[in-house]
Amino acid sequence: LDSKLPSLGTTIFSQMSALAQKYQAINLSQGFPDFDGPDYLQQRLAYHVAQGENQYAPMTGVRSLTKAIAQKNKTLYGDTIDADSQVTVTAGATEALYAAITALVRPGDEVICFDPSYDSYAPAVELSGGVLKRLPLQPPEFRVDWPAFSKLLSKQTRLVILNTPHNPTGTLWQASDFAALWQAIKDFPVFVLSDEVYEHICYNPGGHVGVRSHAQLKERAVAVSSFGKTFHMTGWKVGYCIAPDYISSEIRKVHQFLTFAVNTPAQLALADMLNAQPEHYLGLPEFYQAKRDRFIDALSNSRFKVLPCQGTYYLVVDYSAISDMNDVDFCVWLTEEVGVAAIPLSVFCGQPFDHKLIRLCFAKQQRTLDAAAERLQKI
Ligand code: PMP
Ligand code: GLN
Repeated sequence: LDSKLPSLGTTIFSQMSALAQKYQAINLSQGFPDFDGPDYLQQRLAYHVAQGENQYAPMTGVRSLTKAIAQKNKTLYGDTIDADSQVTVTAGATEALYAAITALVRPGDEVICFDPSYDSYAPAVELSGGVLKRLPLQPPEFRVDWPAFSKLLSKQTRLVILNTPHNPTGTLWQASDFAALWQAIKDFPVFVLSDEVYEHICYNPGGHVGVRSHAQLKERAVAVSSFGKTFHMTGWKVGYCIAPDYISSEIRKVHQFLTFAVNTPAQLALADMLNAQPEHYLGLPEFYQAKRDRFIDALSNSRFKVLPCQGTYYLVVDYSAISDMNDVDFCVWLTEEVGVAAIPLSVFCGQPFDHKLIRLCFAKQQRTLDAAAERLQKI
């Protein structure tokens, strides 16, 4: 078959999880918790199933959920969102990203992203006939070089894709980054896709700053989030995007023939959860910071060097004191020989990325993290 994506294989997340299973390694690779989400959320799911809420949901999302999302963002960020015309519930953030890219990118359009970048962006851009321009971010800060960004902009630029809090590096965009982005693109007809799935897992005192905090950018932006991260239920695959009416209506044209609608009882349960227990997502920074700090502490007795982590549930560590293998080989070795699975950073990059850095997921029970740290301390 003449493949539309000839160079694409299976995602690194599936590969590393399979390898972890094969070698019975502790799996700190693919990003998912090894504990369950809140009881209340599970009870509400069972309740709505029992109530017979088992048929198609409205195409754009169950109304109680789109309203709860708008309300949450009003309370948390002071953002005014029209639940009916600006929120679209999708099958995970992955679908929101794909639908937004498909709706916005035309053949020949250029799309700028920042490397390391999440692995679903590039294939979606390619399938739309877009051309990806990757701006490398340099460790350990991984901040955007704005003059270099401006050089990448051209008459063909259609979309900029960013991610904050950032997977895999744990860095955050600040208000000054959004101001710089606006200055750079304001005279170009460019849209912004902001992947904010870790918005509630953010450790800096001011909290998450999203694209919609910028008054002008938000008129051109799609903000994407996911309940998988927020409620420890990555398998539920419910996410959403927020965009102005004129962009939302285009995204919905794609969404209605990609999935049409999303799991009804899960949406109803998530709406109940958002309304009844805001303390859950408000408590996530404290919850994950305790895990992060204890894990960092344990790794301080190892030869790994930990990079700063301001958000997400990933730690990037430098293994250059241990090995001069490349990061992919090192992750395979670590899984097979040490019994800990991790993700190499180079797989998030389009250009050669010659740093000795890997990603460890700390969304794990304490005993899992302690057992992993014990193994990592020995090498
Ligand atoms: N974007 C980023 C940065 C992610 O890390 C993930 C998955 N963890 C997604 C998007 C996809 O989210 P979902 O599982 O809701 O599709
Ligand atoms: N987003 C998760 C991660 O970064 C993986 C999601 C997936 O496996 N597609 O690990």
